[in-house]
Amino acid sequence: MGNREPLIGKTTPELEQIAVQLGEKAFRGRQLAKWIYEKAAREFDDLKDLPKAFRDKLAESHVISPLTVTTHRTSTDGVDKLLVHNGDNQVYECVLLPYSKRVSCCISSQVGCPMGCTFCATGMGGFDRNLTASEIIAQYLLLQSLTERRISHVVFMGMGEPLLNVENVIKALNIFHDEIGLSYRHLTVSTVGLVPQIRELATHKLPIHLALSLHSPIDEIRSRLMPVNNKWDVAETWAAMRDYHAATGRKVTIEYLLISEVNDTPEQAEALAKLVKGTPCVVNLIPFNWVDTGNGFQRPARTRINAFRSTLEYHQINVTERVERGHDIAAACGQLAGQHKGQFARRTPSNPLPLAP
Ligand code: SAH
Ligand code: SF4
Repeated sequence: MGNREPLIGKTTPELEQIAVQLGEKAFRGRQLAKWIYEKAAREFDDLKDLPKAFRDKLAESHVISPLTVTTHRTSTDGVDKLLVHNGDNQVYECVLLPYSKRVSCCISSQVGCPMGCTFCATGMGGFDRNLTASEIIAQYLLLQSLTERRISHVVFMGMGEPLLNVENVIKALNIFHDEIGLSYRHLTVSTVGLVPQIRELATHKLPIHLALSLHSPIDEIRSRLMPVNNKWDVAETWAAMRDYHAATGRKVTIEYLLISEVNDTPEQAEALAKLVKGTPCVVNLIPFNWVDTGNGFQRPARTRINAFRSTLEYHQINVTERVERGHDIAAACGQLAGQHKGQFARRTPSNPLPLAP
């Protein structure tokens, strides 16, 4: 990329301005926006209805995408996973998830993650940096260029904690909506539970979908799994999610990772039901995707998962279960990038948790 600026991440008015600066009419900027955001064009030569002289001039100062693909894997069940970087060899990942009725994608918000959750491959790798809005949007567009079907749903469940990068994530959410034409309702931000940032996000009143990674209703257990709980406990975190629902009217999701005999006990199912009762929400159960955490975590047996689910349903809580996709290509959070650690990614062994609001 050198020091050429990426066009992805710019709004239509910004692209119009670039066209005018290069001696063209403003409508050329609108044509650029169409090629980049609607057609997911990757090369200047693809932009057929733009004059060659304009394309050449653009290519001197700009690139379309900031990203280079280092690895592309396709799983036997139709999932594509890309490992990308922007020229600095700090790699991160994004995944295309086709379903029968819709196509979704999972994207990263940071290179690595500083939150240190003890079950997470990304967390174990440490933190490098925040992604720019351009790098966030470029993941979607790269994945879109792999499929004829339109990607209608985006989840921020790849590498990183989106609410540690709120400014760029909000900028990206607005571009997804304004430029690419996705419904805010189809955009999901998943957070480890940063209370001040949840409250800040609520003030923007974007009708996006917010998911909280809760993983236990019991403070002692949640703190063992997620160091963030030492800063904001279950009660404070859930209060912020309830207020988020009150401010936006959006049903919230609770992500609940299930680890055998750690957080899948009947007592925790009962406590979870009690905690969330009365707030419109869905509990999404995620059986642990095995990564070598060094602490012996295992995925629960099917009977334990079913028992946990039945207890919630008995209390009339809406429950879904994540179906694992792309197992053969390590499509779960942080796994593929983790395999390249040392080869591409620079990691620092200890990073202090940036928990101060
Ligand atoms: N940082 C955000 C979003 C990225 S992680 C968050 O934590 O919510 C996306 C989801 O993947 C989270 O719910 C996280 O708890 C889950 N996850 C992490 N490691 C996992 C593993 N080994 N198996 C299953 N889910 C995992
Ligand atoms: Fe970071 Fe989310 Fe992994 Fe926790 S689960 S370390 S917050 S990416």
